[in-house]
Amino acid sequence: MIIFVCIKQVPGVSEVKIDPKTNTLVREGVLSIINPNDRNALELALILKEKYKPEVIALSMGPPQAEEVLREALAMGVDKCFLLSDRAFAGADTLATSHTLALAIKKVINEADPDEKYLIICGAQAIDGDTGQVPPELAEELRIPQITYVQNIELSEDKIVVERKFRATEIVVIETKLPALISVLIDINKPRYPSMAGIMKAYDNANVVYLDSNALNADNSKIGLNGSMTEVKKIFFPERKVNPIMLEGSTEDIAKKLCQYLKDDKIF
Ligand SMILES: Cc1cc2nc3c(=O)[nH]c(=O)nc-3n(C[C@H](O)[C@H](O)[C@H](O)COP(=O)(O)OP(=O)(O)OC[C@H]3O[C@@H](n4cnc5c(N)ncnc54)[C@H](O)[C@@H]3O)c2cc1C
Repeated sequence: MIIFVCIKQVPGVSEVKIDPKTNTLVREGVLSIINPNDRNALELALILKEKYKPEVIALSMGPPQAEEVLREALAMGVDKCFLLSDRAFAGADTLATSHTLALAIKKVINEADPDEKYLIICGAQAIDGDTGQVPPELAEELRIPQITYVQNIELSEDKIVVERKFRATEIVVIETKLPALISVLIDINKPRYPSMAGIMKAYDNANVVYLDSNALNADNSKIGLNGSMTEVKKIFFPERKVNPIMLEGSTEDIAKKLCQYLKDDKIF
């Protein structure tokens, strides 16, 4: 059994600069982190590893600096990492990203054993692109079942039984055969910190395997910008029309001023 965890490197700041010419994020000089939801996906895979002993493989598509997040995944305890990196993958929308991730998963499975059972765990959303489309599109590419917003999971040889969040308060229990894909939210678990031994192992003798478009036998019309059906026309920060007002003084003064503002604005 193999568990794949898809992790994306994202800017670790709430306000990023946008290149007005290319409509892409300026990543230079910006701290990059593992997408927060993907840390939960990693944690879940590692909990399942302790209980069921599958091989855990982390995958990321991104530029060479995405190796950092894969090293962090190795330090947390994953067995192997693949970085899908090639200039031809650049500018990918969610469709081209899912296609590329699917090619890598098929390659690993075919080289292991085409009948190998596998589970893919994704974060529900990335904090930069924030579309939440990659997990469902990846499942469709691979023609496997998908269950989103998973809260709890039991794994066996050929199936999973999961509890899925449904609306605000309800939980639905779903069973499906493997292979399958699940996506998780941030409240499913508390991701572990890498141990010192894990960090040493991740940087000393564990390799991140790079796969380019040739290694994936990719069709150039289906990857990167060429394979993208969508184009980001413009990204901008909405203009702030109202300036914040700072209320100062004692609590009583602030309460009085606030009431006056609310009256003046006819809020009550
Ligand atoms: C500001 C901004 C706006 C964008 N708008 C659009 C848009 O409208 N339409 C569009 O098609 N694309 C858009 N993109 C591009 C989009 O971010 C990329 O295609 C990206 O590779 C995946 O989309 P996402 O960030 O929305 O991921 P999501 O679908 O939100 O990510 C969910 C999960 O999928 C997995 N995952 C996602 N990307 C990767 C990866 N590269 N490697 C490994 N696992 C991954 C992770 O597990 C992640 O938690 C935008 C990008 C930015 C920065």
